[in-house]
Amino acid sequence: MRAFFMVRMEENAGMQLNYIANTSTPGSSGRTIPVIDPSDGQPFDEIQRSNSADLDSAVQAARQCLDTVWSKVNAAERGRLLMRLSASITAHADELAALEQRDCGKPTRQARADATALARYFEFYAGACDKLHGETIPFLDGYSVLTWREPHGVTGHIIPWNYPMQIFGRSVGGALAAGNVCVVKPAEDACLSLIRVAQLAAEVGFPAGALNIVTGYGHEVGDALARHPGIDHISFTGSPRVGTLIQQAAAERHCPVTLELGGKSPQIVFADADLDAAIPAILNAIVQNAGQTCSAGSRLLVEQAIYEPLLQRLGEAFSKLRVGPAAMDLDLGPLIRQSQQQRVWDFLSDAQVAGIPMVAQGQIVDEAPDTGFYQAPTLLRDVPVDHRLAQEEVFGPVLAAMAFRDEAHAIELANATPFGLVAGVWTRDGGRQFRMARGIRSGQVFINNYGAAGGVELPFGGFKSSGHGREKGFEALYGFTALKTVAIRHG
Ligand code: NAP
Ligand code: MG
Repeated sequence: MRAFFMVRMEENAGMQLNYIANTSTPGSSGRTIPVIDPSDGQPFDEIQRSNSADLDSAVQAARQCLDTVWSKVNAAERGRLLMRLSASITAHADELAALEQRDCGKPTRQARADATALARYFEFYAGACDKLHGETIPFLDGYSVLTWREPHGVTGHIIPWNYPMQIFGRSVGGALAAGNVCVVKPAEDACLSLIRVAQLAAEVGFPAGALNIVTGYGHEVGDALARHPGIDHISFTGSPRVGTLIQQAAAERHCPVTLELGGKSPQIVFADADLDAAIPAILNAIVQNAGQTCSAGSRLLVEQAIYEPLLQRLGEAFSKLRVGPAAMDLDLGPLIRQSQQQRVWDFLSDAQVAGIPMVAQGQIVDEAPDTGFYQAPTLLRDVPVDHRLAQEEVFGPVLAAMAFRDEAHAIELANATPFGLVAGVWTRDGGRQFRMARGIRSGQVFINNYGAAGGVELPFGGFKSSGHGREKGFEALYGFTALKTVAIRHG
């Protein structure tokens, strides 16, 4: 008991270890990466800078678990294990939220919402384990044909820093439910909560090797994961640039890949919309997580007749927003790191050079240390459709507004980016609601709401450069399995 306590103390006091085969394991390089608190820019912990040898250990542990234990655990029992993990996450929600808050600069309500969503993913997928089944297919006389949904085997998960708990939940929850074992590479900026979840999984009875966490840099251990021949499927969420690298590496060995690469998602407001409902949702969709959300509503398309009055009301709302240290739980916390702050500054200075007018900005509070990575939320108007502010993901709290003439023009603008992840449409006209939903090329369309409160049940993923494959909902389980057709000729 004492030895166990000593290990846990060590893990939580300034040095995080990998979690491989239910064991806290140092990286083999002996090198570490500092963990920075975005609220003050100061280091407060360290993670392992793992290499390909560490990744290989995790893959081997996963493979052994799959072959000797996990493949023999039936679907109902897998479901019970996932449900126990969900309950444990709920019991540890405050601890997990506190870890993520410090690591990622999330305001308290956001961090708690993310812990709740993580528990909900495991609850949802727990219930789905024993409901995933194949079919029988009518065929020639004398034959019986059936399909089985088999796990890929060892799945690799590369997780970004913006919603570590949520993206881990949707990706790893679905993969485990479908009978896979997992090797997870969190973003170097956001590892703490996920290491703790893996410990909780071991405590509730997941066999050694079912869930492994290996930390380090993307170009080192992430690249090793993408190339490892023992990884049978890759789930990646992050930038289009790295998504391309992952897919190229996976193509060398024909490894299936699910890519979620972000968006430039429009909020489309018609003159007949209920603006009292739309305005808070428009605001939330760009300030949540300081705009560092793949499905952020980062473009605002407004019907000409209400362009001026809507911008005036939104401008007033923007100027009341407050930004500060995560623990103050204001409207926005800091951005994840200095390079992300610089990225947002670059976009804003390009806007200035192009003469794009700024409608309003929120306030950074006096308590925010100069060393933190703060950015005031910013509303820009008359953004040209071909400007990079209307085309590229800022990944910060910057909303780019433009006017449209009619329905056809709204659809044209909505589709005028390389992305297609999410869209919000605000109108009371029922026929138009359906025409817009049909016309917009994106993985999700929300009518008179945006994001449906996160809905873990709702399949999520991209069209075009937003990626391919679907996570969340039952649909994800099809991606985490391979279909086998068995034809029996029995006469
Ligand atoms: P990123 O580089 O794509 O990082 C995402 C994940 O991929 C992280 O775990 C990262 O690890 C890993 N990675 C990086 N290089 C890799 C490589 N060569 N091989 C394998 N894995 C690799 O994203 P970022 O640099 O953190 O953010 C840049 C931009 O990406 C953002 O501004 C935003 O536009 C976009 N982004 C989108 C999402 C989304 O939800 N769609 C999420 C995050 C970022 P390390 O971080 O440890 O290097
Ligand atoms: Mg951090």
